[in-house]
Amino acid sequence: MAWETIYRCDRCKTEQRVHTGEYRFYQVAWQDKTIELFDRVSCSVQAGWCRRCCRLRTIEEIPDLNLLQMMRSELAEKGFVAGELDLVTRPLAWIDDRIRWRRERFSPAKCFACGSIEVESAARSDQEKILHAGCGGLFRAFDSDHFVPSMAYLVPSEGPPGESFIRLTTRLWQFIDRRNFV
Ligand SMILES: [Zn+2]
Ligand SMILES: [Zn+2]
Repeated sequence: MAWETIYRCDRCKTEQRVHTGEYRFYQVAWQDKTIELFDRVSCSVQAGWCRRCCRLRTIEEIPDLNLLQMMRSELAEKGFVAGELDLVTRPLAWIDDRIRWRRERFSPAKCFACGSIEVESAARSDQEKILHAGCGGLFRAFDSDHFVPSMAYLVPSEGPPGESFIRLTTRLWQFIDRRNFV
């Protein structure tokens, strides 16, 4: 299930909604097209400020390579200690694919609405505060009980595309914003 979080700026009181928790998977050239959706390389997201959209957006979160490698070693060791390597074969293959994708990933995190890399995510240590650029206030989540149906998306391995989609997605978001706030 995905959810919608409402953020409010503590300075100007602007409220904005962000959707997270939807399923996104990268389309990776070396993965077989017939591979099951949940065996694909998953794409993590977080709320953040997009300087091009000038609003809070769902932003790509690119995992740290060292962290992925650590997760892999811990999982392999657990399987080895428990004598159940068979049980960890699939999760290991999944992490291996994620590590391979991460090594090949060139561009930084992007905005899912416009593809821009001019994004500022919340600090990892404090996910609940996002700087309201141009205002100086901080957006804080104050309501996140709005569950929305989960959707699954396939995303290019270098992240959501930019330029050619901007006009369409900006118009779409303007339409959604009008419906939400008027
Ligand atoms: Zn503000
Ligand atoms: Zn954007």
